[in-house]
Amino acid sequence: MNDTTDNHDAPHDFIRDQIRKDLASGSVKTVVTRFPPEPNGYLHIGHAKSICLNFGIAEEFGGRCNLRFDDTNPAREEQEFIDAIQDNVRWLGFDWGSDVKYASDNFEQLYQWAEHLIKAGKAYVDDLSADEMRAYRGTLTEPGRNSPHRDRSADENLDFFRRMRSGEFADGAKALRAKIDMTSGNINLRDPVLYRILRSPHPRTGDAWCLYPTYDFAHGQTDAIEGITHSLCTLEFEDHRPLYDWLIENLPVPSRPRQYEFSRLNLTHTVLSKRLLTQLVEQKHVAGWDDPRLPTLAGLRRRGVPAAALRDFIARLAITKSDSTVEAAMLDHFIRELLNRTAERRMAVLRPLKIVIENYPEGEEELLEAVNHPGDPDRGTRRVPFSREIYVERDDFMEDPPKKFFRLGPGREVRLRFAYFITCTAVIKDSSGAVTELRCTYDPATRGGNAPDGRKVRGTIHWVSAKHAVVAEVRLYDNLFTHESPGADGDFLAHLNPESVEILPKCLLEPSLRQTAADNAVQFERLGYFCLDPDATDDRSVFNRTIGLRDSWAKAQAKP
Ligand code: ATP
Ligand code: MG
Repeated sequence: MNDTTDNHDAPHDFIRDQIRKDLASGSVKTVVTRFPPEPNGYLHIGHAKSICLNFGIAEEFGGRCNLRFDDTNPAREEQEFIDAIQDNVRWLGFDWGSDVKYASDNFEQLYQWAEHLIKAGKAYVDDLSADEMRAYRGTLTEPGRNSPHRDRSADENLDFFRRMRSGEFADGAKALRAKIDMTSGNINLRDPVLYRILRSPHPRTGDAWCLYPTYDFAHGQTDAIEGITHSLCTLEFEDHRPLYDWLIENLPVPSRPRQYEFSRLNLTHTVLSKRLLTQLVEQKHVAGWDDPRLPTLAGLRRRGVPAAALRDFIARLAITKSDSTVEAAMLDHFIRELLNRTAERRMAVLRPLKIVIENYPEGEEELLEAVNHPGDPDRGTRRVPFSREIYVERDDFMEDPPKKFFRLGPGREVRLRFAYFITCTAVIKDSSGAVTELRCTYDPATRGGNAPDGRKVRGTIHWVSAKHAVVAEVRLYDNLFTHESPGADGDFLAHLNPESVEILPKCLLEPSLRQTAADNAVQFERLGYFCLDPDATDDRSVFNRTIGLRDSWAKAQAKP
């Protein structure tokens, strides 16, 4: 091989291979791609696959990638979505250069091209209603029938079309259709609608237009205007390609984009469809588009998922021609792997149980050295306050522990992380018999966590000093759906997980967590990775659990 741009680490898939060929043959000089969301909802992790592919290819081949809003249906599109999408793409780590593109920038040109088709006898104005059109369209096994209006003269069509533009007809009363072939085996070629009348203010063009191009008419021509060389989309558009090609062939467009279709990302235990996500948000099954349980980029971000972990995950997905579903546990694995490297360790107690260390002097306190990252000594240490009253995790105590339980129990000795060995000497209960407090003694000789006499303890538990602790609300998230493919056997809402969020209002954190920055992930030792939630204020700490520590996916991969 004498292709100097090639190297072993460069990603390979059928699209990149095509691009290498096009560059080598000279048929393409500069690769231009685009990510074309419709601003009718927030982006989800499926979109991230398309974003990473389009922007990634532009970067790898020294080309460029446009962010273009396919804003052809004002009935469902909103400025809020336009803003959120830009924010999400930037957060994911990509840059579209100086200006955002909009299909609506080309409304006048698209309109002129529609007239061009009419004049050439390749489009006509139809009076059939949407229902009638559907009935005339035929089915996969039956050919369609020609509309009674199909043979109007070019002049008559032009006159009607211009009057459509000037607002003479009611919404839905007329439509412009391509004149292709009502008997085509590809239903997309059975005289598809190119323009419909729709009185709905547009986020960008206001009420300048009362007719809008369909997505199918706008899409390929907008690609051509932007000089897109490789128009990448998901497999459901494969059957639309002959229509896009027909339009490009019959219009005086400035360039000829080629479309390539790839498999969409599907993920278990969630839904990746804007329609279903919209329903979850609008019907308030979740708290909003950025609810940390959603697979939206805004939700993932709020949950504390680093953009780099998403990119790592997506880099491992196959770009192929066959759809498949990826296990949510694989995404979790990449999140965990990154956070394990980047997140500093802290101590926090989620379900506190009080301990009084009876032989520790009243009123005294000290600072103990704690390492910030066991795998990275450069992260240094911090000092954690210790005193006579501490809290530990309720789960780390059992009154009648089985043999294999190495944490606290009556008479048992454990290590407090970075501190001392303690031994439980008494259990205090309320009138209902519930344990409310433990009494312990500590061994001053074990400061730092080792006994000079070489005595061993099997368990090490985390703790926080009662009087220094920061009180925080901690939100634990689980899958939003209990079913692997929600709705597979009926209503997807029936599979909503009633326990997808658990709110713990009174958790106790070591004091250094008061200074956590909004974008900083931390590991609460033995519990998982957490991040500050935007609901937090100067005097109210709120943390989200991004993910627990246990990696089921990596274990499953390791099995023979
Ligand atoms: P949805 O199916 O969720 O409603 P959409 O395809 O209608 O999404 P668009 O805004 O049109 O949403 O999508 C923008 C781009 O993202 C398109 O090119 C589309 O093919 C791609 N895309 C959407 N969903 C996925 C997915 N799950 N995996 C990969 N790419 C996707
Ligand atoms: Mg779409």
